[in-house]
Amino acid sequence: MRFADIQMLRYDLPGFEALTPSQKAYIYYLSEATLWGRDITFDQFGKYNLLIRRTLEAIYTSKLQTSEQASEGAEDSSEAASLETYLKRVWFSNGIYHHYGCEKFVPEFSREYFINKVRETDDSLLPLPKEQLLDTIVPVIFDPTLLPKRVNKTNGEDLVATSACNYYEGLTQKEVEKFSHQHPLNSTLRKIDGTITEDVWHIGGKYGKTIEKIVDNLLKARQYAENEQQKKIIDLLVEYYHSGDAKVFDDYCIEWIKETEGRIDFVNGFIEVYGDPLGIKASWEGIVEYKDLEACRRTKAISDNAQWFEDHSPVAKQFKKEKVRGVIANAVCAAMIGGDEYPSTAIGINLPNAEWIRAQYGSKSVTISNFMKAYDEASKESGFLEEFVSDADTISMIRKYGEQCDSLHTDLHECLGHGSGKLLPGVSQDALKAYGNTIEEARADLFALYYIADEKLLDLSLVPDMEAYKASYYTYIMNGLLTQAVRIKEGSDYEEAHMRNRALIAQWALHHSDGNVEIREVTTADGETKHYVVIHDYEKLRTSFGILLAEIQRIKSEGDYEAARDMVETYGVKIDPTLHHETLLRYKKLNIAPYKGFINPKMTPVFDAQGQITDVTLDFTETMEQQMLRYSTDYSIH
Ligand code: ZN
Repeated sequence: MRFADIQMLRYDLPGFEALTPSQKAYIYYLSEATLWGRDITFDQFGKYNLLIRRTLEAIYTSKLQTSEQASEGAEDSSEAASLETYLKRVWFSNGIYHHYGCEKFVPEFSREYFINKVRETDDSLLPLPKEQLLDTIVPVIFDPTLLPKRVNKTNGEDLVATSACNYYEGLTQKEVEKFSHQHPLNSTLRKIDGTITEDVWHIGGKYGKTIEKIVDNLLKARQYAENEQQKKIIDLLVEYYHSGDAKVFDDYCIEWIKETEGRIDFVNGFIEVYGDPLGIKASWEGIVEYKDLEACRRTKAISDNAQWFEDHSPVAKQFKKEKVRGVIANAVCAAMIGGDEYPSTAIGINLPNAEWIRAQYGSKSVTISNFMKAYDEASKESGFLEEFVSDADTISMIRKYGEQCDSLHTDLHECLGHGSGKLLPGVSQDALKAYGNTIEEARADLFALYYIADEKLLDLSLVPDMEAYKASYYTYIMNGLLTQAVRIKEGSDYEEAHMRNRALIAQWALHHSDGNVEIREVTTADGETKHYVVIHDYEKLRTSFGILLAEIQRIKSEGDYEAARDMVETYGVKIDPTLHHETLLRYKKLNIAPYKGFINPKMTPVFDAQGQITDVTLDFTETMEQQMLRYSTDYSIH
C-alpha cells in the first residue's frame, strides 16, 4: 500500500509456529505491553496530536458508515481523499509532523471543508465539545507558522521554544540546560509561577493510566517467562514504571544486558532521545523479538571457522592474525513493534544508550532479519532490477540467490572481516586519519567478497552451490558503479565511508579488470541511451578482489596514509556526472517511495479452561487503516 511518500510492508514471523505455547504466550503479553504505549508517543510528539488524530478518526469512521447512502460531489470527494491521506500520514508519523524531516504536514483540504466535517460529526465521537475543539486544533492544522517543526535544530535559535515536541512547557533552552534533571529521560518540564517542576512519567503521574496497562501486561507476560533472569528484568521494569526512579531504570538496563539465554527478548520504555532537540527526554518505544535460529546457525558456523578463513586469505602472512576470534552476530525476528518504533522502524538494535553502562557492562546488538527480508522483497517488486540489471539471466540469478547472499555478505563482513588482519608493531590505529573508516569498510567488504565465492562455504552448507556468489558480485559492482548514486544529489561527491568504500572497490575492479568488468552503453528501441554493468568472468573478478584485499590490508597494517589517500581519492569519491544524471533519471521514473513502514501481525490468544494460553494465532490480513483504528480503540485511554 502506498500513500504520500510512504509504502507499507508486512513482515513474516518465521519459526513462530514452532515456538512452545508458553513462549508464544510470553510474546503475546509482551506484544500487548508494546501496543499500549502508542498514545504516549503521540502525545510526546506534539501536544495536539491525540486531539487531532481522534477528530480525524471520528470524521473518517462516520464517512465509512455513511458512504453508501451519500453520493458526494466531485470537489467534495477530492477533499475527502486529501483528508484521508492526511490521516494516514498522522497515523504513520505518530502525529502531524513528518516522521523523518519533522516538518508539519500541509493539509491539502480546505479549512472550510474540515470545519464542516467536524460540525457534521456526531458529538459523542469527538474528543471535545465541537466549538472548543475547532478553536483548539484548526489553527494548529492550518496555520503554517504555528508550531511548524517537531524538532528544530537550527543553530542560533531557541531550540526548546521553537520545537513542537511536548517535553517542555513555558521554558527557554537556557532554562532547560541549567536545570538539574532528576528524571532526565522520563519527565515533562513545566514552569509554573516561575518554578520549574518535573512532571514524571510513571504510575500515578503523567501517562499513569497508560503505563498501568503496560504494567498489567508485563506482569501477565512474567508468568510465561523463559527463565529467572527475564522475571528479574520485568520486575525491575515494573518497579521503574511505578516509581519513575532513574536509578531503577539503570538497574533494569544492566540486568537486561545479562539476559542472553532466552529465545525471546524485548525493549519497552523511554529509550531514544532524537525527538528532543536537546537530546534529554526520551520517546516511548517497544519491540518484541525472538532469536532467528537459522541466522544464528550461519554466524556460528562462520565464527567457528574464523582461523581457517584468516589462514587462507590472500593477505601477506605478516599482516595476518596468528589467533583470530570470530564474532557471533545475533539476528532476531521482530514479533511486534510499538510507539516510536512503529510503523517506521530500525533494522537493528544496539542498547542500552547510557555510555557508562556500555563501558562497564557492554551492550546487546542485534539485526532484525525479518525486516531486512521484507525490504529486500519490496525492492524486488519495485522494477529496480529490471531497470538496472543488464539481462534477464542475471535478473533471475539475483532473484534466486540475492537475498541469501546479502545476509551472508553481511555476516562475513561483520563476523570475520572487521576482526581479521593486524597492524604492524608501532602503527597507530588512526594512522590513516580521515581515510581510515573507508579503508576499514573496504577491508571488511573485500574479505566478504573474496570468501563468498569460496568452496569452504559450500562445505559449511552456507551456500546452495557455486553459482550463488555471482549474484552477490553483480549487485555489488552495479551498486558501486551506478545505483548507489541515486542517494546522492547531482553534482555532489560520495562522503559517507560505506558509500566511498563500495565505489572504491567497484571502480578499482573496473579499472584493473582488463575488460572483464564493463560499463556497456546501450541504445534502447526509443533512442534512449542507458548504461549497464556487464561482468564477463566471475572467477577472474574474484582474483581481482583478492589482489585488492591484499593491498588494502597492507595499507592498513603499515599505516600507509599516502596510499590510503590515493586509493580513496582516485576511486572512492567522484561520481561520473553523465552516469549520475542518467541514473537519477532512470531511478526517478520507477517512482519508489522513499520511506517504508510495517503493518504488525494481529495476534489472537487461544485459552484453555483454566485461562492459560495454549496457542497464539497470527493474522496478516489486516490493512493499515483497520490496524490503526483498532489500536486507537483497543489501546487508548479515553
Ligand atoms: Zn563494517
